[in-house]
Amino acid sequence: MSIIKREGLPHFVVKKNLQKSGTRGIYFSDVVTEEVLRDVCLKITGQMEFTCEYVDNSYHDPFLDATYNKGRLAILHVEDTVCYISFSEREIGGRNSSVQSVPTAFNLFYLNPYPNKRLFYYFLNVAGNAETAYQRLIYRLMRTIGFTFLNASPSLEQISSPFTSAEDIILNRKVNADRNRSNNSTYLTKGTDGALEVYGKTYGANKYETSLICYALACLRRPEQRIRLYEVLEGNLKELPEASLRVIRKMGGIDVVRTGMTLEKRNYQENKSLRSPLYIYNLLRRLGNKHCALCGCEIPEIIQGAHVWPVSKIKKAPGLTPEQRLEYALDGENGLWLCENHHKLFDENLLSFDQDGSVRLREGLDERYANYIQEITKIQSLPQSMLTKRFLWYLEQRSLSVS
Ligand SMILES: [Zn+2]
Repeated sequence: MSIIKREGLPHFVVKKNLQKSGTRGIYFSDVVTEEVLRDVCLKITGQMEFTCEYVDNSYHDPFLDATYNKGRLAILHVEDTVCYISFSEREIGGRNSSVQSVPTAFNLFYLNPYPNKRLFYYFLNVAGNAETAYQRLIYRLMRTIGFTFLNASPSLEQISSPFTSAEDIILNRKVNADRNRSNNSTYLTKGTDGALEVYGKTYGANKYETSLICYALACLRRPEQRIRLYEVLEGNLKELPEASLRVIRKMGGIDVVRTGMTLEKRNYQENKSLRSPLYIYNLLRRLGNKHCALCGCEIPEIIQGAHVWPVSKIKKAPGLTPEQRLEYALDGENGLWLCENHHKLFDENLLSFDQDGSVRLREGLDERYANYIQEITKIQSLPQSMLTKRFLWYLEQRSLSVS
């Protein structure tokens, strides 16, 4: 324990080593130099005089564990205030590299019980191309959860305003996801019960994004609002890092639900799968945010995932292995988004689709009913992009099982 405050000057403690310093020969102390610290000190305290110590992995105090530098952090003691300053990379290039250390820094800050603490972010490269739509989203999330940017350019400051509501994040995320659907993104929507739903991969680079989105939602959550995080697991179960889960639990209001093939299989076999999160995730991935394919309605609370080949029929179809049945039941191509009205009309076979994607009403339907359906069905034909071979095959199975 050696938090030394010489002559009452602001005092920095900085872990020298990054995780890979040993093999890469790049030390945090080479990047966050005394010159950088002077600027940080000036911006936080208004004075340039300070003391600092760069410490080894074995060093520990109430704010730093005996490990390498996690979260690209420097700790600054100013009288009885403790400042956590996280630093960007020098090159803010990749989609993910610049984000990685942010949730880690936040976790350390948030979980520390010391009351008089503050959280900052310092850009080591202000001039770099850091203002892509994705970066903007991340910066806005950071400011939402309480990061103060020490040296953002006025333009960056302006475009990274904190989010004001969970809905605000959903709408912004939608723009992002629509553009990048092929990426394994974190998806945000609302369930039919009005709960906020986060569908996120919880390993690899996605875990950082998923964590940040959850933190921001928890900060903005109204008291009556529920949030569900669906951890989409693949293969060996990999949950969010323990520190992130601890933060989520401490913030409160978020239910963490694990989902993945193994779990869905068990639910399916035990006949428990009334609503499958993995199916919804697959639809989000294939079709983007919830929107009725037949009327364009985007109100997520009344949009549902509609199976083309219904699960009840898949269960009864002859000659299939259990694995095949599960695969068809969860396949994003075996479905479309429909509002509650259109879903019911589709389920009751009052309307169906031809192989060219155009809407067909049931023959002999009362004219008044037909007129009503025509009226609410603003979109008379599914987009070409939806009519994959597999989708059409499901459509065929549907008509076979219906007739
Ligand atoms: Zn509709």
